[in-house]
Amino acid sequence: MPSLLTAELVRLNARATSKHDAIVQAGELLAAAGYIEPAYVDSLHGREKVSNTYLGNGVAIPHGMQEDRHLIRRTGVAVLQLPEGVEWHDGERANLVVAIAAQSDEHIALLQRLTRLIGDSEKLRALVDARDPNALVAALNGAGADAATSVIESTPADFEQRVELVLDYPHGLHARPASTWVATAKRYQAALRVRNGKLAADPKNLVSLLQLGATANAHLVLSAQGVDAADALTALKRTIQALSAEEHERAAAARARRQKAQPVSWTPVDPATMFEGVSAGPGFSIGQARVMRTAQLDVQDRPGETVEATHRLEEALRKTADELDTLARDTTARLGAEEGAIFGAHRELLNDTELLAEAARLLLDGHGVAWSWHQAAERQAERLAALPDPLLASRATDLRDVARRVLKHLGENLAADTRLNTPAILIAEDLTPSDTAMLDPAVTLGFCTVSGGPTSHTAILARTLGVPAAVACGAALLDVADGSAAVLDGTSGRLYVGVSAQDLERARRTQLQLAEEAQRAAANRALPAATLDGHVLEIGANITRPDQVRDAIANGADGVGLMRTEFLFLERHDAPSEDEQYDCYRRMVEASGGRHLIIRTLDIGGDKQVPYLNLPHESNPFLGVRGLRLCLRRPDLFVPQLRALYRAAKDGPLWIMFPMVSTLDEARQALALAETVRAELDAPKVPLGIMVETPSAAAFADHFAALVDFFSIGTNDLTQYVLAVDREHPELARMAESLHPAVLRMIKQTVDGARRHRKWVGVCGGLAGDPLGASILAGLGVDELSMSSRDIPAVKSRLRASRLDALQALARRALDCEDVDAVRALETTEIKAAA
Ligand code: PEP
Ligand code: MG
Repeated sequence: MPSLLTAELVRLNARATSKHDAIVQAGELLAAAGYIEPAYVDSLHGREKVSNTYLGNGVAIPHGMQEDRHLIRRTGVAVLQLPEGVEWHDGERANLVVAIAAQSDEHIALLQRLTRLIGDSEKLRALVDARDPNALVAALNGAGADAATSVIESTPADFEQRVELVLDYPHGLHARPASTWVATAKRYQAALRVRNGKLAADPKNLVSLLQLGATANAHLVLSAQGVDAADALTALKRTIQALSAEEHERAAAARARRQKAQPVSWTPVDPATMFEGVSAGPGFSIGQARVMRTAQLDVQDRPGETVEATHRLEEALRKTADELDTLARDTTARLGAEEGAIFGAHRELLNDTELLAEAARLLLDGHGVAWSWHQAAERQAERLAALPDPLLASRATDLRDVARRVLKHLGENLAADTRLNTPAILIAEDLTPSDTAMLDPAVTLGFCTVSGGPTSHTAILARTLGVPAAVACGAALLDVADGSAAVLDGTSGRLYVGVSAQDLERARRTQLQLAEEAQRAAANRALPAATLDGHVLEIGANITRPDQVRDAIANGADGVGLMRTEFLFLERHDAPSEDEQYDCYRRMVEASGGRHLIIRTLDIGGDKQVPYLNLPHESNPFLGVRGLRLCLRRPDLFVPQLRALYRAAKDGPLWIMFPMVSTLDEARQALALAETVRAELDAPKVPLGIMVETPSAAAFADHFAALVDFFSIGTNDLTQYVLAVDREHPELARMAESLHPAVLRMIKQTVDGARRHRKWVGVCGGLAGDPLGASILAGLGVDELSMSSRDIPAVKSRLRASRLDALQALARRALDCEDVDAVRALETTEIKAAA
């Protein structure tokens, strides 16, 4: 291929007053060197009117219109280096303007190089700072712009500074811890490498890390080079080690689950076909098998205009990222943090530079955008699937899951084929975490898959949803005839099909017995959380939607202690109207049926961001405009919510609670505004309270108690503010322990302040759902504990087995402890005494 760029076509250290000016200058370079007729410059401007030629990472590629090719004398490229940059499109600034005059497709190779460079910020920066035009010539013509380095090199060398460690994770390096490694690595400029024998990965890249195939006890070499290399290595090593305890806990929990799980005492007497899989969700179900044969994805190659295709891909990636953020938050609230983290890790897969570079390379080879993306993702997924460790290999499913989401946003029609309309046992090749999260437990009697593993994300979600499941049942599973009579023992991971009428009858009797046992447990759950000496605590549930109330009550909740309303605002593109909100709160009131219902006003900011509100970027969002602070500044959001709440209050009892309060004045303003809204609507007065989640609110609890009707202690935030530990911080989050005696003392102060004015105190942070935490809180004298529904039975049974005076003694001991470990140790010494 002829060289497209020569030194005379490079203008170093240029300045441009506008994008128009930059295009004129680049065009002049091309015209002066005889590559184009001067009129082609108009064509360059013309293109900008119909499409945006900003490629990414400070690079723009102005090029003329197709129909003006006759104005090109020969193919060439001019580069304007703009160290100060120039505004190109929508706030994006270009530092390298690469003007292309191409008669046919000779420039494709150059575009490929550019896209590779875009994935390599360091090289790109060097080009923006270069003082020798030949540096740009070499990079864009090919010399030095070597083929993209493969994620896995055959004999990789370590960087200068290095440390070694043994990977102490029982399940090896899988997606959740790996995404924390990525978060740490990305905070440093240094080039980093993790080597596992002959394989090396870039720890800023999740897929690359997963492809390392690092299993338990793998010997890893971390190495770094660059300005902050030493700090980066220390931080990465610390992150790796800090996660070890959590990984062990998870493995122990999985072991305990397996040990606890008693296979059901039913096996068929008559001949039946058995599929022996691996348990992925306990439970016993009987029903018709419904076989879902996953249609092969048929993504057509429809070549299009490259720049436009790049933008479409970017847009699809952005939409997928937003969708996954929302899903992660929603799943955390609905099912729990571990489940939410699955989609957080999926989100990280989207940032994978190798995946993006591969897609861009295919795109620039002239392929269609959807095809290029699909191929790139498939190639990466196949590499993951080929890893010898089954757990790591199963991550290919996660990558394919994410890739499908992107394809959907690229306009590919991927009809979801795993939804059941009538109750059945679902049989499929595999289910992605997204499919599983969408399963309706009301009609999904269970599921069995050909592939998958017990620790896969799909299995985690199945267990949380309470759906019996068996995975890794083998390829023959797909030969099961649709509609066959089937019995699934999810606990032992066995599926029986072609079961005789007599065996089905026996299975039904077994199922009845199991249901009776479950009913007994439910009946216990429904008993009040009364201590042995008759002290009753209220138990609330933390929920986000009206349809969760039923499940909360079934799990033993006396009411709703926290409805997080921000979730109403999250899964959408604009704020819900007053009427929409009213409809939701009214349904909450109805579903609660007169039970206690505390609805918290919008708690946006901090870790919960809403893209369409366009809130300014804050360097310390947890200390910034969040919760009530935001609402008081945004009456356009706050007033409709208060109006909707008071309208719902006409339909039944509810309490209104304000989050993230730090001063008395904020509380006064909120109370005054609420009263104005109430009076306008002629609505009933309702109890108005605050969350106590800042140290100032706890320290001033007696003052606040004089103002408001009730408190609910948000121990999640209170902990992060008392201990000065960001609850989202990848390395420090584990220090954010609500059992820390310093936090417990703040809680005591809050209860004392409330008591002085005879006010009601609840706790709705995570501490309430931990049996030891709940015991201490009860001993500290709180009135209510509100938690996620599935935590209720364990907390209730702990309280029902304790005496109040012993819990009070436990709380006193805890307040005197020096650290969290000492508090935890009370579990063994004191809890027995409490019973
Ligand atoms: C808390 O901070 O404890 C709390 C319940 O609120 P959130 O977790 O929604 O911030
Ligand atoms: Mg909070």
